[in-house]
Amino acid sequence: MKYGQILVTGSAGFIGFHLSKRLLEDYDVSVIGIDNMSNYYSPVLKEKRNEILMNYENYRFLRLDLSDWDKLIGSVDEDIDLIIHLGAQAGVRYSLENPWAYIQSNDLGTLNIFELARRRNIDKVIFASSSSVYGANKKIPFSEEDRVEKPVSLYAVTKRANELMAWTYHYLYGIKMLGVRFFTVYGEFGRPDMAYFKFAKKIMEGKPIEIYGGGKLKRDFTYVSDIVNGLIKAINADFGFEIVNLGNNRPVELNYFVSLLEEYLGREAKKIYVPKPKADVEITYADISKAKRLLNWEPRISIEDGLKRFCDWFLENLEWVKDL
Ligand code: NAD
Repeated sequence: MKYGQILVTGSAGFIGFHLSKRLLEDYDVSVIGIDNMSNYYSPVLKEKRNEILMNYENYRFLRLDLSDWDKLIGSVDEDIDLIIHLGAQAGVRYSLENPWAYIQSNDLGTLNIFELARRRNIDKVIFASSSSVYGANKKIPFSEEDRVEKPVSLYAVTKRANELMAWTYHYLYGIKMLGVRFFTVYGEFGRPDMAYFKFAKKIMEGKPIEIYGGGKLKRDFTYVSDIVNGLIKAINADFGFEIVNLGNNRPVELNYFVSLLEEYLGREAKKIYVPKPKADVEITYADISKAKRLLNWEPRISIEDGLKRFCDWFLENLEWVKDL
């Protein structure tokens, strides 16, 4: 790896944790992690992930809010070669309740990260975007060439705005920018606000789960180690400004997904079918030909293998994960 000092924002988050751990374990690099440990979902889980990272000598953690420019510029004083910006207010549905949190963390926070890159002459920024920028596009699979002008949630708006800001920072200052559109990422130490995690909890508690749109909605579930592999490939890739999909390229119906959870958890789900919320889309489906070309990346873990791993982890850790 050609970079020595890497800044990872959102390092106590789901993807940031897995990426930081892989970098510290497999490469000769130092990681500076930033997270505000927001209480959007269980801070206990974030503390747990961060404790694991703190065991690595080359990890330094800064607890701060990305929207606080003075604190950010004042705290990050070492030479940084590369930023991987994953810190954000995530979640589509919560953006209906609290749109302000999204503008603050995702737009102001991202602007601050790009400005930090400019002032500190940082060569490259890789930042998290999302499949949600495709909105309710009917044309599948979703290609980076598709028009993305009609986001259907405030979350998607902020992610699209990040891509536009990144272009401007590349154009004006020559910073290498890669926006990575993740497609529904799942796995161990995952997010308790996401459907797969909520379903697993409720199934184990014998409580009913709410399934949208008759279970016919399709998601291109992508296993977290595949996302980490994609980010590692991105670190080593050459680019000026690019946007790239990282998805499994095999959308599955929610009904099938739930049947796998039932099988691996060894319990039957009590299902309640409810209408699809307006901000949820019918399908996500990644065209990954650009990721293959640009990053030489493709996913390796099938939904069946990935969910089995998640469920095994969930059952082994039931004692504490049930309370998240
Ligand atoms: P996550 O919520 O687990 O991680 C994000 C982390 O950022 C959290 O630990 C949170 O505390 C931190 N954070 C939030 N606001 C902050 C702020 N203002 N200052 C500092 N830290 C802040 O989410 P994740 O699933 O790991 O997602 C990582 C990135 O990928 C996010 O940008 C998210 O929008 C994007 N993404 C995720 C998915 C997915 O399915 N998990 C899909 C598409 C895009």
